[in-house]
Amino acid sequence: MVKAVVGANWGDEGKGKITDTLADQADVVIRFQGGANAGHTIVNEYGKFALHTMPSGVFHQNIMNIIGNGVAFDITKFMNELKEVTSKGVPTPQIMISDRVQVMMPYHVLFDTLEEARLAGKSFGSTKSGIAPFYSDKFAKIGWQINEFFQDDEVIKEKIDSIADVKDVLLVNLYHTDPLDREALFDQIKEWREEIKDYVGNVSLYLDQAIKEGKTILLEGQLGTMKDPDHGIYPMVTSSSPLAAYGAIGAGIPPYEIRQIVTVSKAYSSAVGAGAFVSELFGDEAEELRRRGGDGGEYGATTGRPRRVGWYDCVASKYGCRLQGTTDVAFTVLDVLGYLDEIPVCVGYDIDGKVTTEFPVTHLLDKAKPVYETLPGWKCDIRGIRNYEELPENCRGYIEFIEKQIGYPITMVSNGPSRTDIIYRKSSLSKTV
Ligand code: GDP
Repeated sequence: MVKAVVGANWGDEGKGKITDTLADQADVVIRFQGGANAGHTIVNEYGKFALHTMPSGVFHQNIMNIIGNGVAFDITKFMNELKEVTSKGVPTPQIMISDRVQVMMPYHVLFDTLEEARLAGKSFGSTKSGIAPFYSDKFAKIGWQINEFFQDDEVIKEKIDSIADVKDVLLVNLYHTDPLDREALFDQIKEWREEIKDYVGNVSLYLDQAIKEGKTILLEGQLGTMKDPDHGIYPMVTSSSPLAAYGAIGAGIPPYEIRQIVTVSKAYSSAVGAGAFVSELFGDEAEELRRRGGDGGEYGATTGRPRRVGWYDCVASKYGCRLQGTTDVAFTVLDVLGYLDEIPVCVGYDIDGKVTTEFPVTHLLDKAKPVYETLPGWKCDIRGIRNYEELPENCRGYIEFIEKQIGYPITMVSNGPSRTDIIYRKSSLSKTV
């Protein structure tokens, strides 16, 4: 059975923790898109980890951890993370990297940095991890599938030359900087292929077999619906689809095999980068939520930069869940809200005097003002609670109000960062798939 763990919103919803929790019953965990531009934070018996490229199953010894073909694969960061994980006492994980995955090249990172600097005030707020240049090259058909590194050196050198001929025009004439060092690129490829060769394999064939054997396979998404290049807040989006449907492509499995789609949504909102964020908070209120948020504050796992924060947005989340094809919502980081007397929830958008509950296209989104309904807080610490009925009444009221607004079943409630901080809940909205 294949399950997907994906985000309803702007990312940082707590997908890493939910994957780590569900991994207890999984045989395979796969990253299917994105790159090292976003991070999952995972807290478990080995300590606290910020994973950017590693699948979250690396802490479980019986799990095969796969980098799917849809990922923007940064080999150096991957090798560093592998070293970090094992140096903190985690037994060496089982890893397989798709022979069709494309590799993040040093010049992708360089172009990302140069372009953000050129755009200055109009930049996309990129993490400068090379993601947009990487995917541009992939679709321009000048990317590097990892299997190409294992061809004859002469073929590799020829390809480097043909790519560098194009890149150098931009580097020299647009960005006024040095051309690419072709020798250094070739040396880098040789070094990488030695480091990585034992991990590369035929992932779609492996998964075909795993599905036939009835194994439990988790697809691990990065970011969330709002960052989808088609359905998100274009152009302030990422360059690969974070939707569960893309899991079929980015892992190489049939779409109908994905039977459960766990969409993770945080009990308040946060976002990184630029773009519309209707229920955003500012000033002291924002600072307090940011400081108390997540596990140690709402600061980027990759960049350390402060995340934008706001109240829960039912309009965005309903849309986010719909596009994911949600069968279950995992509602996370609820414990953080225990300090509030009352909690506003965004239930509609006012656009030019008309209130809507349907998520609009970007140019209308830019005009949207939040319509709030305010619910009473529960004013206590809910960490440690394991049964839904033991949650304070106002806390259950908050969950049930949001479930009704978004129209998707909240079947998991996360009330702390660790793997065991999870409450399972029956919902009348659940459908069997
Ligand atoms: P991801 O990218 O969706 O995996 O999310 P991140 O890892 O960037 O952000 C989620 C943050 O919230 C991390 O610091 C987690 O440790 C933390 N977290 C996850 N679930 C909970 C929870 O239920 N309560 C609290 N307090 N923190 C949580």
